[in-house]
Amino acid sequence: MKDIAQEINSKFLELGVEIPLEDIEERLDKMINKFKVPKEEARRSVVNYFLKEHNIPRNDFYTGQSESPQKMVSDLNSDGKWANVKAKVVQLWENTHESISQVGLVGDETGTIKFTKWERAELPDVEEGKSYLFKNIVVNEWNGKFQINLNKTSSIESIDEDLEVGSSTATFTGAMVDIQSGSGLIKRCPECNRALTKGACMEHGKVDGIYDLRIKAVMDDGTTTQDAIIKRDISEDITDMTLENAIAMAADALDQGVVLEQMKKALVGKYYTISGSRIERYLLVDSIDQKLALDQAELDELITAAEAV
Ligand SMILES: [Zn+2]
Repeated sequence: MKDIAQEINSKFLELGVEIPLEDIEERLDKMINKFKVPKEEARRSVVNYFLKEHNIPRNDFYTGQSESPQKMVSDLNSDGKWANVKAKVVQLWENTHESISQVGLVGDETGTIKFTKWERAELPDVEEGKSYLFKNIVVNEWNGKFQINLNKTSSIESIDEDLEVGSSTATFTGAMVDIQSGSGLIKRCPECNRALTKGACMEHGKVDGIYDLRIKAVMDDGTTTQDAIIKRDISEDITDMTLENAIAMAADALDQGVVLEQMKKALVGKYYTISGSRIERYLLVDSIDQKLALDQAELDELITAAEAV
């Protein structure tokens, strides 16, 4: 409530009218706590009260500074700026902090950006693959990268559009040198799709997880390494192992770890060309080709060289 009062106070200040914080808080308190008016309703009502009292036209208050501007994702590039943005939830990531309610990636046709929804913002959960209008988000710069924060003054409205998401795609050729833990046969939360840790979701606790296959691979081309995430369908293709096979293997061995071991045996040391969208340090693989150590052009060159002798 203090936040709302503060916000109302500063919006009036922008219009050159100073309304004591206590006066705003007193009215808000009455509406919210005594009359049980929903917060948004109370805010509107209190604002209208003071607008009338100071003879300020409503338009002056609701336009200009007070409304966050609508932006495209690629324009969310100045620290501390507020904005509204329509975006699709591309991915939800494993949540590593209890003060965070959801973290992941949203995007529109101009690109993608990391988002963090804070627990204390008390906002509804978003779902992967759905599009939303995010209002009053704040842009932050962190290590030279921009991200958006959803806080108490933000809101999330689900919209009836399926937004296209543009992204920077990348290709990498190298040897798969490792497959990291968290790969193989995993379980995901049926509600939020997060990978479970010891049968529990960060957000939803003990749940009846849904099996999935994924590979978190480390690729190396001799000069740099690239982390890659390979989803179920492609994992099945390159390992010749279906999800059903993997579940059966794990059941036989009474150990999910056998699936990871099997994947390592099948893949580590082989050469691949992977391509997909680049997200943070990961390449999300949407196509993969196994390569011989030498490709045809290199072989042709060797043959031509040999014939020339
Ligand atoms: Zn969950």
